[in-house]
Amino acid sequence: MAMKKHLMIVGAHCGDGEIQAGAIAYKYAKAGHKVTFLHLTAGEKGNPPHISEEDYRLQKIQEAEKAAAVLGAESITLDYKDAELKLTDELVTRVAKIIRERKPNLVITHWEKSIHPDHALCPKIMAAVQMKAGLPGFEIDGLPPHYFGILHSENWEDMQDYVPDIFVDVSEEFETYLEALSQYWFIMNSSSFRYYDYYKALGTVRGCVSRAKYAQTLKYPTGSNVRRGEIIPGFPL
Ligand SMILES: [Zn+2]
Repeated sequence: MAMKKHLMIVGAHCGDGEIQAGAIAYKYAKAGHKVTFLHLTAGEKGNPPHISEEDYRLQKIQEAEKAAAVLGAESITLDYKDAELKLTDELVTRVAKIIRERKPNLVITHWEKSIHPDHALCPKIMAAVQMKAGLPGFEIDGLPPHYFGILHSENWEDMQDYVPDIFVDVSEEFETYLEALSQYWFIMNSSSFRYYDYYKALGTVRGCVSRAKYAQTLKYPTGSNVRRGEIIPGFPL
């Protein structure tokens, strides 16, 4: 039996990780891998007019838990404030501790460029966490060092220069993915963006170009591009 791994999806706000890579997550969960969604904030500032920010925060944490349950995953929501994320040593150490405790092999997070500052900060946070969790020189509560890889996933707010490298066929998982998305009030009811329609259409479009019914995409970090190949493909030396 192939060795089971741990996939962690890190989003700025509850809902981001699921819309970006929920179908991929479910595909790996179904295959027996461990999947964790880590939300750095609840995303409580998108609260509907009749619900306070604090109540909406609690609602979103519950919605995240329901969505994760549909996808066969675990959900962790940290208590940082929406739209106020900062790259601090406190945050990096806290996430590094979670990484050392849970030992994910791969982290999927937002792309490097975004119209939302919280989103754009996530890859920077995770690059710092990769160092802090991975280097033995950093002491965190006596936990052993742990190193993980990073990939990016697709979010409507993070599309500048996002050209996918990997198309994951999620035809078998897409219906469950949509069911997970429907756990979120904002995905189904937001007046600022048609989330559900967009992500259903996006899965369809990415499926079309990769000859699948539905697909979700991933992208290597910018610096990884230099490590892609060793010779000119098709021209053996
Ligand atoms: Zn977000």
